[in-house]
Amino acid sequence: MALTISPRACPQNHRCPIIPVCPVGAISQNGYGLPVIDEDKCIECGKCARQCPMRAVVTKN
Ligand code: SF4
Repeated sequence: MALTISPRACPQNHRCPIIPVCPVGAISQNGYGLPVIDEDKCIECGKCARQCPMRAVVTKN
């Protein structure tokens, strides 16, 4: 189960508040663009999914 951030759910108009929530620093963002989860770093703890106010963190198909 890999996690990703849905470009449809994320408004991409603010600093992503879940970046500091990630315990391994797997989430990065360029400006106010779509945040990206580094699959190689992610330990799939699910903290970001629970903290995103837009519920934009989804399971990658
Ligand atoms: S699932 Fe956990 S480790 Fe993976 S990006 Fe989200 S907060 Fe970081």
